[in-house]
Amino acid sequence: MTWLEEILIQCPQCGEEFAIQIETAEDGSVELIEDCAVCCRPATVRITTEAGEVTAVDVVAA
Ligand SMILES: [Zn+2]
Repeated sequence: MTWLEEILIQCPQCGEEFAIQIETAEDGSVELIEDCAVCCRPATVRITTEAGEVTAVDVVAA
């Protein structure tokens, strides 16, 4: 079972916050590359989910 969740992340490059949509599924972590909505530079977003709930979000410069 998967569903979309919108989370707010902070760009590691320009410091602006922007929302991304992610698919949460089983427990575990996913890593994806998102381009900042403000400065368009890529960031690596590591998301940990537990029972479909986002428990941790880690953002680093890609
Ligand atoms: Zn940015």
